Amino acid sequence: MNKPSNQVSWDTQQSNELYGVDNWANDFFSISENGHLHVHLHDEDQKTAVSLPDIVDGIRERGLDTPLLLRFHDLLADRIRNLNIAFNSAITQSGYQGCYRGVYPIKVNQQQQVIEEITQFGELYHYGLEAGSKPELLAALAYMHDPDAYIICNGYKDQEFIDLALQSTKMGLQIILVIEMPSELNLILERSVALGVRPMLGVRAKLSTCNNSHWSHSSGENSVFGLTTNQILNTVDTLRDHGMLNTLRLLHYHQGSQVPDIQSIRESATEASRIYTDLIHEGATMGLLDIGGGLGIDYDGSRSDSHSSRNYGIQEYAADIVEVVKTVCDEAQFNHPTIISESGRAVAAYYSVLIFNILDVNSPSADSIPNRIPEKPHPHTMKLSEVEGYLEEANLQECYNDAIYYREEILSLFRHGNVSLRERAYCNSLFTRIMTRIHEIADTMEQAPEALAEGNPFRDVYYGNFSLFQSLPDSWAINQLFPVMPIHRLNEEPTARATLADITCDCDGRIDQFIIKGEHQDHLPLHPLNDHENYFLGVFLVGAYQETLGDLHNLLGDTNVVSVGVKNGKVQYRRELAGDTIADVLSYVEYDTKNLVERFRSLAERSVEEGKITPSQRRQIMDSYRESIAGYTYYESPNT
Ligand SMILES: *Cc1c(COP(=O)(O)O)cnc(C)c1O
Repeated sequence: MNKPSNQVSWDTQQSNELYGVDNWANDFFSISENGHLHVHLHDEDQKTAVSLPDIVDGIRERGLDTPLLLRFHDLLADRIRNLNIAFNSAITQSGYQGCYRGVYPIKVNQQQQVIEEITQFGELYHYGLEAGSKPELLAALAYMHDPDAYIICNGYKDQEFIDLALQSTKMGLQIILVIEMPSELNLILERSVALGVRPMLGVRAKLSTCNNSHWSHSSGENSVFGLTTNQILNTVDTLRDHGMLNTLRLLHYHQGSQVPDIQSIRESATEASRIYTDLIHEGATMGLLDIGGGLGIDYDGSRSDSHSSRNYGIQEYAADIVEVVKTVCDEAQFNHPTIISESGRAVAAYYSVLIFNILDVNSPSADSIPNRIPEKPHPHTMKLSEVEGYLEEANLQECYNDAIYYREEILSLFRHGNVSLRERAYCNSLFTRIMTRIHEIADTMEQAPEALAEGNPFRDVYYGNFSLFQSLPDSWAINQLFPVMPIHRLNEEPTARATLADITCDCDGRIDQFIIKGEHQDHLPLHPLNDHENYFLGVFLVGAYQETLGDLHNLLGDTNVVSVGVKNGKVQYRRELAGDTIADVLSYVEYDTKNLVERFRSLAERSVEEGKITPSQRRQIMDSYRESIAGYTYYESPNT
């Protein structure tokens, strides 16, 4: 590829700093010498770096196009291992006498493949599952048969749910029914008598400790879930009255997801440990303390207590929990409980990467070459064009003010019908050119005028072939920041200042918050598009919560999904799931595709009758309609 000769030299280390790869990638991704982003996978006992652009090329050659969701099961396996090692080494180092048993909350990513892989990778650690609804329990029972792992049942439970759990307990599974509402207890007691099964029970506590995560409303005394201390004691009394206090085995709490601050994690664990020991004082058997989820991910790489980060690591998390529980139990002179945690985000986030191609770029600078000058320009138009003549460093602020003033005046004249559309367009281009020049000068000044300190406001809009609402719902719903960057050309300087727009026609369908050189920025440095060459971006850490929260905005459906590994130095495409077809998404909203074809056919036939098209044109039109219905919901690139 020919590079412009004036290109300043740029190396991959600069890309690394710009996009913060080392900060968020957890050693799973890195940039190679040739400017490709690599993912680190396992090849038997070795770690191998594999090029993401090569993976994408291989998939496209096989016939699946972008947008693509890549899943890396090795990263899931690594995270499960990391979590277990963190707790096990904290336990060994502190002389804790209980053990650790993690469970994976199915709601975080319920895809069949994920549950299958988690139960497989977790076997070594007796890693269990958490089910929050009847469908999740059914999935858990199909995949989790390890008698040493736990299945934790949270959420609302009806009789069917309870019966299923009790009957499976009879078959040797360790299923814990966590009481979240006082009313559940009587039904559980009734059903366990009827079925002749002694249940394993837990209670979910509302803690008073709050945290400042996005999900803080799911913790604290006002949370919708869990029992108040009074309700917990009523539960204990009822169990005692029934001679069932020895079935109470577990205390559960959940602080909310993505807890940014380790201090509030310690506080919650302390409060919960006190409740735990007092339940033993009350006569409950106990033995299990379930600390819920909340272990955060460093999306922005800042290792701070901002919403998109956390000020602790997985080791520190495990060590602090173990230490707090140990201290409280030692004081009360009780055995150390088995610690259960329900980390979902921290386990699943790294697993998936969204890859999409850029369809087009809308660049204001392309609009800065004015059309021909209007015949009788308005005096304000003349004034605006004069600004260019006297523009220099010494009067930058003045030129800035003048340009803005005349541009506003001309807009107002246009609204009143006093200048033409052509003249307005001419002035707009002139204005863009002047402003670009002003910012170029300001960028070279040691102290730029205050109004210009924010930098060039013009952004290139890069249109990505994806739907934010389908693939990155949290980016839209709660302004979650995800790492976004090109997966190739990382040895070239990215000279464009871009924001990203998706292909929904919704003005919310955009990403305009990024982490650049460790700071929040409203633009992402990207490369200018090359002719006849795809430009691919990746969005990272999307394995948790994004895949099944997505909606069908503009009827854009599921993307293609491919699961990737390596063996003997070769990339393996282990599983492919073709994304939704247009027929699929239309059927989700109750259209019958046969009926659609039939309706369109009647229009085509009428057009033949009326002589507007020929019968063979009708055939062509109908073929295109049918082909589209069977196709991908995203923009399909022409086969090249
Ligand atoms: C959502 C949820 C989790 C998972 O939380 P993460 O922050 O993703 O680890 C765990 N437990 C319960 C009860 C939940 O509702």
